Amino acid sequence: HLSDSAVGDMPMPLEIELVPALSDNYVYLIREPVSGAVAVVDPAEAAPVDIALLAKGWEPSLIINTHHHGDHIDGNAELIAKYGCKLVGPTSEKARIPGMDQTVREGDEITIGNERGMVFETPGHTKGHISVHFPGGNALFAGDTLFVLGCGRMFEGTPEEFWTSLEKLRALPDDTMIFCGHEYTQSNAKFALSVDPNNAELKAQAAEIERKRAQGLPTVPARLGDDRKANPFLRADDPSLAASVGQPDNAIAAF
Ligand code: ZN
Ligand code: FE
Repeated sequence: HLSDSAVGDMPMPLEIELVPALSDNYVYLIREPVSGAVAVVDPAEAAPVDIALLAKGWEPSLIINTHHHGDHIDGNAELIAKYGCKLVGPTSEKARIPGMDQTVREGDEITIGNERGMVFETPGHTKGHISVHFPGGNALFAGDTLFVLGCGRMFEGTPEEFWTSLEKLRALPDDTMIFCGHEYTQSNAKFALSVDPNNAELKAQAAEIERKRAQGLPTVPARLGDDRKANPFLRADDPSLAASVGQPDNAIAAF
């Protein structure tokens, strides 16, 4: 339970449960405690999500999809059939995400009970990809745009688009917790160390990640203020990193 461990004793107006799915996906349950409203983020598959919901005694009224990939939407239909919840996702993905009841663009809000999330359009991994920031919960649901110590594969966007997306997320407050779509942190750390071998903060984080994974613990969520110091994809405009990858004056090329 995140409320018992990773998030520590921070005041958490939102209760957030991490549900491992498929081989390395994370689905999230978000509960706004005053109203009891519950949302599911990116249900890769229905079964583990439903087990987690039953264990908590929670009934979702909303599913949020960050992007159209199957490992983020394939649980939608079964959960909607069981719970009658609504589905919200990116406006530009109407053709690729079936059954959306609400679509959102940059600057729109997604409401869970009394809590409002701000929508950022963050293309790059896919053309229509949204990330949602809940300021009240210090929580960023980044899908496959921003990973801990990495970012998603650039399937549909350009480097300029992807970099612009990451700049938006990087600007959020230090205490924002990154809830991303996959447990890729350990391999991200290896890549990060290969391009940024002299970064002491990165080395310290990589050691902590090894320790957590050896114990079978998730590395997610991670604090944005920490990731910003160690994630090479948030540091493409940092002169030392750009120089180390041979692109001293060009953040986009370094990216
Ligand atoms: Zn994806
Ligand atoms: Fe994914």
